[in-house]
Amino acid sequence: MVTLKASALQDFVGDIFIKAGCSPEEGRRIGRYLVAANLTGHDSHGVVRVPRYVQMKNDGLIRADQEVEVVVDTPVLAVVDGRYGFGQTAAPQAVQIGIDKCRQMGLSAVALRNAGHIGRVGDWAEMAAAAGLVSVHFVNAAGSILVAPFGAVERRFSTAPYCVGVPRPGEAPLVLDFATSVVAEGKVLVASKGGSKVPEHALIGPDGKMSGDPHLLYGDYQAAGGRDYKRGDGAIRAFGDHKGSGLAFMCEVLGGALTGTGAATEGRRFANGMLSFYIDPKIVDPANFLPGELARFVGWVKTAKPIPGEQVLVPGEKEARLRAERLAKGIPLPDEIWQSLVTTAREVGLDERRIQSAAM
Ligand code: NAD
Repeated sequence: MVTLKASALQDFVGDIFIKAGCSPEEGRRIGRYLVAANLTGHDSHGVVRVPRYVQMKNDGLIRADQEVEVVVDTPVLAVVDGRYGFGQTAAPQAVQIGIDKCRQMGLSAVALRNAGHIGRVGDWAEMAAAAGLVSVHFVNAAGSILVAPFGAVERRFSTAPYCVGVPRPGEAPLVLDFATSVVAEGKVLVASKGGSKVPEHALIGPDGKMSGDPHLLYGDYQAAGGRDYKRGDGAIRAFGDHKGSGLAFMCEVLGGALTGTGAATEGRRFANGMLSFYIDPKIVDPANFLPGELARFVGWVKTAKPIPGEQVLVPGEKEARLRAERLAKGIPLPDEIWQSLVTTAREVGLDERRIQSAAM
């Protein structure tokens, strides 16, 4: 295990993307968001993605330094095309459009299509919350067929995340943010590379048996080699039986079909689609009832007697705690993931002394 300070890891990842052909601004931004995912404990959406992003850039599947194209623009609504730019560039532009419209109108919706991987969706809810806004996000990942619907063993959905953010004055926002699968694909990736295991009910084989074995997703792989989720003959399971599977279905419909990205199907180019709604609580709630009511409700929920050994947490609490801890103690990375960063840094031609200094 290698442990790095967030700032050092962020700079190293930024340098890799700059060397790979991104502008310094974009490279730093990608580094910042990937490391932000590690800080919140979502290692599945952190720097483990670096080799894959660089490969996608080299293959022309993601493009550097794209400006989004606004294809529909009304006072309350925008449709924004990410033009297959990095998600860490397309998503904040789309969210900013939603924030600006919501500040004018009290309510807005933005359909983002054809974005590169937008990473941890909670980042976008946090961006809206920092502007004082409630937000709701339905997301799909076209071309990424990973998840079996309830009652099936074959893949038909992406891990299609759903996210809701609620700002709290003077406190971290409440952020519910999850894949509609039992686990995000990146968690299986991390498990396959020696990181935390996934639950035994996370995956399903063609025989209908549940398992936590990453080989069901990736087929045969070498410890140090790449992973291709198209090679396994199993699937990740949708969470929450028919209800979670139904939410996944609607994330595909709203985040994929309605945005113009396209819902899950075989052979589609990878892109995230995101349908986001923004609400200004100051307009809904001129009497400013919400902050006090949130404080009361959170306090009340947390007084529920816990199961022995458990704690009652509210959405976003685990991430906020981990962020504080990892900012103080550093980000732990399994050797395999660290080595994949070093290999990618060499492949893009980063100076060897820069690479050697990264983990010091
Ligand atoms: P997860 O299973 O860790 O669930 C996270 C959510 O559950 C958070 O809101 C967290 O605060 C809450 N939570 C966690 N423990 C809790 C507890 N004990 N009590 C109450 N609430 C608790 O998340 P996941 O499904 O593995 O998703 C990980 C990340 O992957 C998310 O950030 C998601 O946006 C991202 N993702 C992105 C894509 C994409 O295509 N860009 C696809 C899938 C997932």
